[in-house]
Amino acid sequence: MAGASPAWVSTRSRRERIFATASITCDLTDPYLTTMLRRTLIPLATLACALGTSILAAQATPITAIRADRLIVGDGTTIDRPVVLVQGDRFLAVGPAASTRIPSGARIIDLTGHTLLPGLIDSHTHINSSDSDGGDMAVLRETGAHAAIYGVVNARKTLDAGFTSIRDVGATNGADIALRDLIAKGVVPGPRIFAAGPSLGITGGHADVNGWSPLVSIPGTGLIVDGVEGMRKAVRQNVKYGSDHIKITATGGILSVGDAVDHAQYSEEELRAAVDEAARLGRKVAMHAHGAEGIVTAVRAGAASIEHGSLIDDTGIAIMKEKGTYLVPTLIILDEIARDGEKKGVPASSIAKARAIEGERRVRLRAAWQGGVKFAFGTDATGDIHGRNAEEFVLMQQQLGSTPMDAIRSATSAAADLIGVADQLGTVSSGKLADLIAVEGNPLDDLRRMQRVPFVMKAGEVYKGAATTGGR
Ligand SMILES: [Zn+2]
Repeated sequence: MAGASPAWVSTRSRRERIFATASITCDLTDPYLTTMLRRTLIPLATLACALGTSILAAQATPITAIRADRLIVGDGTTIDRPVVLVQGDRFLAVGPAASTRIPSGARIIDLTGHTLLPGLIDSHTHINSSDSDGGDMAVLRETGAHAAIYGVVNARKTLDAGFTSIRDVGATNGADIALRDLIAKGVVPGPRIFAAGPSLGITGGHADVNGWSPLVSIPGTGLIVDGVEGMRKAVRQNVKYGSDHIKITATGGILSVGDAVDHAQYSEEELRAAVDEAARLGRKVAMHAHGAEGIVTAVRAGAASIEHGSLIDDTGIAIMKEKGTYLVPTLIILDEIARDGEKKGVPASSIAKARAIEGERRVRLRAAWQGGVKFAFGTDATGDIHGRNAEEFVLMQQQLGSTPMDAIRSATSAAADLIGVADQLGTVSSGKLADLIAVEGNPLDDLRRMQRVPFVMKAGEVYKGAATTGGR
């Protein structure tokens, strides 16, 4: 998509919410502070800043050193016998033990026998989803309070599974936005969330609840939006209420009743209007699309990513490569609906849809992967998939023919690039946020190892595991 540069104010406030730290700063570019300085408080403000800085310097932030057998950096490279130094919420230094000095007094976390990796990123979750039947009737039985509470539970499961960031792609009642903000504030533990707010969908489409009498008014599972002006307004409204990106359901879906997966649901004109408006406000657009025609339309309109991409054809593969659009494959969800749908209580019509495209989907997604389309890891985590996100890695290897390293890259540097935070996340590199996990042994030999994560650090804070020695 066009690289619209957002006004610094909105970028800064959005980034500050997501990358919030507890450090004290004296930002002399802050308009409020400069106004203060310009007025009568110059000596006082300068003194306060100087004092604050010297106090911080005197109480140098402690350093943690982590040792392990190997580090998968996240960009396709590895380091044997690494030392990773963490100070505050950032990586301070990363390198082989032989050439990376551990400062005296550092707290040491010894993870010998383990492999370190960047905190993982799932690019397609619904963190506030309930564990109900997966049908769209949950809107009649549950409220935003349900979504909020499920979100807290699912967030912990996701973080414990080693996913320190997620790109969430659709929730109602502001539940995802609230959860994002309260995790960033430290009120509840969970992954760093990049939130969409409600997804946008057409009347009678994937985000709507269909098949009922016109006498009954039922809210959609997202925002029901039609027409070019409607799209512009909806994007503005979502941004107003805190969306980090926009999610659009561009074709029919599996769990919606009365629509077809291979029908394009928005016109290119409508999608283009949304992308244009989102770009102006510094947001990327993720588009749910299963059918071949809908995928091509969505990519042409400027989608940053195609979610699912099930029936992508050769035209779709070519245009995604040309435009650098990401595909987020969500293999696990469709497999589970097709295999265990009845057991999970998924409506029969949805199970039938999943089974109808299951075979072709594997062939087409494999063709896209082998054909060189960029992929970002994503599960469509809902129901009981929260916390089992890493099962997707093995499926990528089995179904797409991915190497273990490329599957891991899709959940680290590739996902960070899709979200637009590659300067902060996605690799274990000095200066980036210290999101680090460990798995036993070498996951490059067996990707199932990714499903057991004994150590999780997010922004320098250990949330799971690790006996420590030394330090303060
Ligand atoms: Zn989804």
